[in-house]
Amino acid sequence: MRTAINLDALVPLHVRLFEPYIPSRPDAELKRLYRCDHLYRLNNNENPLGPPAAAQAVIAAFDPQRASEYPSGDAYYLRQALAQRFKLDAEQFIVGNGANEVIAFVMKAFCEQGDNIITADRTFAVYEWVARFSGIEARLVPLRDFAFDDEAMLQQISERTKVIFVCNPNNPTGTYWNEQRLRRFLDRVGPQRIVVLDEAYAEFVEQPDFPDGMKLLREYDNLIVFRTFSKMYGLAGLRIGYLATSLALTDIIRRTGVVYSVNAAAQQAALAALNDDAHVAATRQLVRQEKHFLLDVARELELPAQSGEGCFVMMRLPVSDMLAYRKMMQQGVMIRSMTGFRYPNWIRISIGVHESMQACAEALRKVVHGK
Ligand SMILES: *Cc1c(COP(=O)(O)O)cnc(C)c1O
Repeated sequence: MRTAINLDALVPLHVRLFEPYIPSRPDAELKRLYRCDHLYRLNNNENPLGPPAAAQAVIAAFDPQRASEYPSGDAYYLRQALAQRFKLDAEQFIVGNGANEVIAFVMKAFCEQGDNIITADRTFAVYEWVARFSGIEARLVPLRDFAFDDEAMLQQISERTKVIFVCNPNNPTGTYWNEQRLRRFLDRVGPQRIVVLDEAYAEFVEQPDFPDGMKLLREYDNLIVFRTFSKMYGLAGLRIGYLATSLALTDIIRRTGVVYSVNAAAQQAALAALNDDAHVAATRQLVRQEKHFLLDVARELELPAQSGEGCFVMMRLPVSDMLAYRKMMQQGVMIRSMTGFRYPNWIRISIGVHESMQACAEALRKVVHGK
């Protein structure tokens, strides 16, 4: 007879208490489940235009023989290109399997039991999740007017605060701190704690007073900037993102990184995508136009909407967001229901091509008019 594993003895309490995130099913399964023949993916802030042309060419031409070889363990050429682009040193970058992975690198590098991190209660959830399943306390400061509340965050700082995560612009609310506000915050936090600026959507921002974290690195050694190729550069499926910080900090963070976590195709595609400014311009144009369209729909349906910078819009529905999710799925429109992100009855819609926005508008009309 087999002996049952004693999980209580084996598994740390903070892991036992953590509820795993349940990813959605593959598109083909969802289509079968909801009986729809087309699916518009408006749930993950993906770029509806796909990757830049040069990156597409690199992916198409990827030599299958190279699949047997390990990739560069530190994304050597990509870091060179990043250094050139942002006028920094190649050693100031660490590339990961998506920005998600570099969140874990940072947490492991600085936090131990008893330490805490500070972020907002309604922001990108991965900072909080990584902290909690690592046994690190996550202090979640409520947003104020949909934005990160700098004063309240400063008050939460304790002796054991190691890292403060600021999502700028914030996913899902689209709010951002301007340069003056960010500088004031950095000055008041001081150099004894890490401030992470997650700029996953920086390339979408249109406002002139938006701070460029890459430039601020020259002044603040305790600042870490996150960027990703998943959103603007349309490479979410290849999983590649990175951080930039001071040489002193990359020297530390490098120790907690997993070598070879970034595959060769992703490195090549990212390298090709990085300087395609025309793709960035075209995507911004599309987002500007279709965001406008969606906000008009919200007005027509009298749905409170929240949006700002970034490729997404939030709306509050007069019905349950979970119910709305199912109804919209039946019409082939996949949005993000926000109850699980502490926004009951809100949904987040990623900006897509016009056809998908029209389908979304139709689905919303049916949800609101109860059909
Ligand atoms: C999408 C996203 C990321 C991470 O994306 P990766 O695909 O892991 O690179 C990080 N931060 C925010 C705010 C995001 O929305």
